[in-house]
Amino acid sequence: MSIAYANPPVAIVIHGGAGTITRASMTAAKEAAIRATLKASVQAGYQALLKGSPGTEAVTAAINVMEDSPLFNAGKGAVFNAAGKNEMDAAIMEGAGLNAGAVASVSHIRNPINLALKVMTNSEHVLLMGKGAEEFARQQGFEMMDPSYFYTDFRWQQLQRIKAKEATHKKTAQQDQQDRWFSTVGAVVLDRQGNLAAGTSTGGTANKRWGRVGDSPIIGAGTYANNKSCAISATGHGEFFIRYVVAYNICNRVELGTPLAEAADTVINDVLVKAGGEGGVIAMDHDGNITTPFNSAGMYRASIDIDGKLSISIYRDEGEAEGALTGNVEH
Ligand code: ASP
Repeated sequence: MSIAYANPPVAIVIHGGAGTITRASMTAAKEAAIRATLKASVQAGYQALLKGSPGTEAVTAAINVMEDSPLFNAGKGAVFNAAGKNEMDAAIMEGAGLNAGAVASVSHIRNPINLALKVMTNSEHVLLMGKGAEEFARQQGFEMMDPSYFYTDFRWQQLQRIKAKEATHKKTAQQDQQDRWFSTVGAVVLDRQGNLAAGTSTGGTANKRWGRVGDSPIIGAGTYANNKSCAISATGHGEFFIRYVVAYNICNRVELGTPLAEAADTVINDVLVKAGGEGGVIAMDHDGNITTPFNSAGMYRASIDIDGKLSISIYRDEGEAEGALTGNVEH
């Protein structure tokens, strides 16, 4: 029996969002806290993989760490919509059999990714939204959180800044640097059984209209997994990721024979850049190859590859990612 067969490789890559993330816009304390949380998240997912858990459990374990942290735009710390509320979206998908579950516009669920998993495993549907999703959550025994649980002063002040700008320059409102961090979270894994899985969880975009749903819970846009090609979780300006069907677009190119890194780079740094769509993806193929292209200044990301090598990065100069948007995109 070969070593590879006796001990099939596992791998994980996570993201905590892309955007105008530069050293100039970061404090040392915040950077240390973000790196520590990325490390805790990627290790939580990796431990689940080492135990032989299904990929979807590793995805939820990793994402739960970031959802429970106020530093990321998912679960606690989710952005506020224009009505001052948190409306969260999440999706999860298995590369074997293309099973998927997703929720949109939920406001009382501590870990929306766990509810997305229940939609996949315990309902006949793929996507539940709003009150219907929360009624399903109650039936599944989920605790209903008071909206105050999701509140963070950072996100509230962000909404006030965006609204103040809107009031003064209605037509050309451009969010300042701090407000161009997306901070959605996601995880992609290869499990011991050789299956890929992907998941994404988000509060969406700050100051969005109530009822707006982004790319994260849309299978094929922000989240996708197929053992025949690859698994993807996206972060960025969701409207573009939906219109360019980014996650499926990359996987389809891989299925047709393009290597993963080239397929992901083309969609993020060519197709999306030409369209003006800012963001990035984490991607993994069936062999555990990982790529993390983004066209924004930075992307919070971490991975443990099939050789067990841990890497944690924030800025562009820490890793791959070629080419960049110039930073003048409005959203
Ligand atoms: N893609 C998410 C959305 O548009 C935002 C993000 O990546 O932070 O809802």
